[in-house]
Amino acid sequence: MIKKELTLLVDDLHLLVVRDKDSDKVVEQIFTEYLNSKGHRKTPERYAILDTVYSINGHFDIDSLYSIMKEEGKFSVSRATLYNTITLLIDAQLVIRHQFGNSSQYEKTYDRSIHHHLICTKCGKIIEQKNKQLQKEIEAAEFSKFKVSHYSLYVYGLCEKCIKGNKHNKKQTQ
Ligand SMILES: [Zn+2]
Ligand SMILES: [Zn+2]
Repeated sequence: MIKKELTLLVDDLHLLVVRDKDSDKVVEQIFTEYLNSKGHRKTPERYAILDTVYSINGHFDIDSLYSIMKEEGKFSVSRATLYNTITLLIDAQLVIRHQFGNSSQYEKTYDRSIHHHLICTKCGKIIEQKNKQLQKEIEAAEFSKFKVSHYSLYVYGLCEKCIKGNKHNKKQTQ
């Protein structure tokens, strides 16, 4: 069941691959500066992972990233290397980690527009939603003795399919 969902996720991700050469270069530069400043090695594997991460326009987990890298055949990287590099990318603020229920998912941050996440508590589906009104309100909010850098908003509930499923089940039991 989980395997099947992962395959679907990977298929979805392939549909969303969008490249932007200019922002790719900027992102590489940010990563290089970060690696230099921290004294980390600049390995080709790390850059290949960065490249793949930035080819994904949406959420992914380590397993789907691993599958994509394997499929592309660029580098045979271990899951351990993926975890390690993702941790560096998070530290460099190029990637954000989301905790959706039990699963950790990741998302690139550079040049990605602000969106909120609607999370279905039944099937785990995640829907990205833009809401300018909400965004304005949050960005205008002032917090005492606190400087905001970024934020995430998760809204929990039932997706369309699960709402229909619930109704269906109720009918059957009546
Ligand atoms: Zn659902
Ligand atoms: Zn997102």
